Amino acid sequence: SSVSSDKATQETPSYACQRRTPLHHHNKEIVDALQILALSASFQGSEARYLGFTRAASVLKCLPFTLQSAEEVKDLQFCGGHSKTVIQEILEDRVCREVEMVKNSEHYQSMKVGFKVLTGIFGVGIRTADKWYRDGIRSLSDLNEIEGKLTGEQKAGLLHYTDLQQPVTRDEAERVEQLVKGALQSFVPDVQVTMTGGFRRGKQEGHDVDFLITHPNEEALNGLLRKAVAWLDSKGSILYHHIKGRSHNFARSSTMDGHETCYAIFALPNACPEKSPDAGTIQPDLDKSPPRNWKAVRVDLVVAPYSEYSYALLGWTGSKHFERELRRFSLQVKKMSLNSHGLFDIEKKCHYPATSEEEIFAHLGLLYLTPSERNA
Ligand code: ATP
Ligand code: MN
Ligand code: MN
Repeated sequence: SSVSSDKATQETPSYACQRRTPLHHHNKEIVDALQILALSASFQGSEARYLGFTRAASVLKCLPFTLQSAEEVKDLQFCGGHSKTVIQEILEDRVCREVEMVKNSEHYQSMKVGFKVLTGIFGVGIRTADKWYRDGIRSLSDLNEIEGKLTGEQKAGLLHYTDLQQPVTRDEAERVEQLVKGALQSFVPDVQVTMTGGFRRGKQEGHDVDFLITHPNEEALNGLLRKAVAWLDSKGSILYHHIKGRSHNFARSSTMDGHETCYAIFALPNACPEKSPDAGTIQPDLDKSPPRNWKAVRVDLVVAPYSEYSYALLGWTGSKHFERELRRFSLQVKKMSLNSHGLFDIEKKCHYPATSEEEIFAHLGLLYLTPSERNA
């Protein structure tokens, strides 16, 4: 096209799954601001505005340079007018008034607390957090007052709030991996366990740790998750867990998949302390309670039959926006329905088996993207 020489108008493929989106990019400040507006929109129940801001943020993550002037913003593709105004304001004034207002608003702040208490479990968070807000709940102490009305899961989220609101580090994730592998392998020595989610995409921290479990012999997976979780529980490693059984008739349109899944809060023992020079000196006993030697960490465990493993791996690696775009691309461009169980061609009425993520991208006619290029 005639304007393609302008660096800001470089061809951007329209679906995020057609672009490489690295973890580290050149426009962090603006992306963070747009993501605050996206989160706030979803807190207000506006899916359309959430998508608008999320898409704009996602496009900026792919820009190979740092935006400098409001002029450059005019020709940005897939970036709506509202997002452009926000970006221009940040470029001109360093801050955007709307973002500052949102960040300081009572609704946004209370919803964030509610959302954290709900431990970020897919799908249920926003509705409940908003109901709490409408019931006048503004803080953790308000939630403590209605503790009797909370579900077990909500109580666990509230009890471990301080830990859960801290990011999980990669080192902690690796120690969770050792725990999880140890438990599963004590029942099935050659079970395959893969860390998925943000850590697989190269993130150094996350809100939880995600694992995908499989085995070539599907019989070996029967009852394995329940046994391993019960074993961990008996060792005191589990503070809360909820197992969702495998469902065969999950809705194809749903963002929830039908795999057997355990949503858990682990009590992760602290790393063995390095011997420090003053180890052994007696510490003054300020309060009588012994120091806590564990941290509460959210963990998702997913079991996939071997035949669906590659689809589950692709589906649970994320990012959320990448997954949404991949499914939208499949449906709109390829007339295929994709989820973490498989790929179904709607016109040819057939399924496409796959033994690797590469094969799935090939079925969709997409350039293969490594996990670290899926940070849309
Ligand atoms: P974070 O570091 O914040 O945990 P993440 O990318 O790992 O970021 P998660 O919420 O843990 O985010 O989800 C990981 C991926 O798993 C997401 O891409 C999401 O699409 C997928 N996922 C999460 N929950 C479900 C679910 N119930 N059913 C299907 N897929 C899910
Ligand atoms: Mn995760
Ligand atoms: Mn997760």
